[in-house]
Amino acid sequence: MRIVNLGSGSKGNCTFIQAGDAKILLDVGFTLAELIKRLQKIDERPENIDAIIITHEHVDHIKGLKQFVKKYDVRCYIHENIVNECFAGAADEYLDKVVKISTYSFGIDKLRITPCMVPHDSKVCLAYVFEYRNKKFSIATDLGFMPEEMMKLMAKSDLVYIESNHDKKMLLGCAYPYIIKQRIMGEHGHLSNDQAADIIVKLAKTGTRYFVLSHLSENSNTPEVAYLKSAKALENAGYILEKDVYLRYSRQDGPGNNFYFSESED
Ligand SMILES: [Zn+2]
Ligand SMILES: [Zn+2]
Repeated sequence: MRIVNLGSGSKGNCTFIQAGDAKILLDVGFTLAELIKRLQKIDERPENIDAIIITHEHVDHIKGLKQFVKKYDVRCYIHENIVNECFAGAADEYLDKVVKISTYSFGIDKLRITPCMVPHDSKVCLAYVFEYRNKKFSIATDLGFMPEEMMKLMAKSDLVYIESNHDKKMLLGCAYPYIIKQRIMGEHGHLSNDQAADIIVKLAKTGTRYFVLSHLSENSNTPEVAYLKSAKALENAGYILEKDVYLRYSRQDGPGNNFYFSESED
């Protein structure tokens, strides 16, 4: 299994996932031209993408979707309630390429994918767990708090991408209008560094070793601040960084770290 984030944050999100021969993009939050550039950097081509999976209908997750689907033969897995929103009201033209999903698990080749509804200020927002043979990758970004159900689904993942959007103090001190700050901090907003750190420690206790802090704000966070918060929490819980657990962060201008997990046949 190969997993690479191609960019993460409010200016665009996309993650490349390969399981066996299946190549998948999770979200298409960049224009097609930008996405092709980023795929080139990881030696991939848009025509080789088999499927797109969408988390939610915010523009930083679907910006290039229509362009991509128009040009390439690809199947799109989208929650049934946001298909129209994802295609800006012109969904009819693309329906033959859309697979409407709900919160039931589904498969792409031998990859098993389980969506989970998370609280966010969009019509629908899904976090996902990807399982291929004996490997497990989970991703949860764009959520105000972590539902217990997703916490359980993510247990024992090999790799977790978790939102670490903002530092509360930096957010309160930044130039955003107060109403925006409230939205971000609210139950349907984004996870703070504190919330991410708490979740990471809990998941480390289930055996997860690799974490990527994701969807970092450029106005109310820095990679260093986010990293230190989770690193300290892990150390306080008795984990040694770079030995017991590995902590990384994704970048808006990606691609980020390449993760390769060898899959056993059993
Ligand atoms: Zn987002
Ligand atoms: Zn969002």
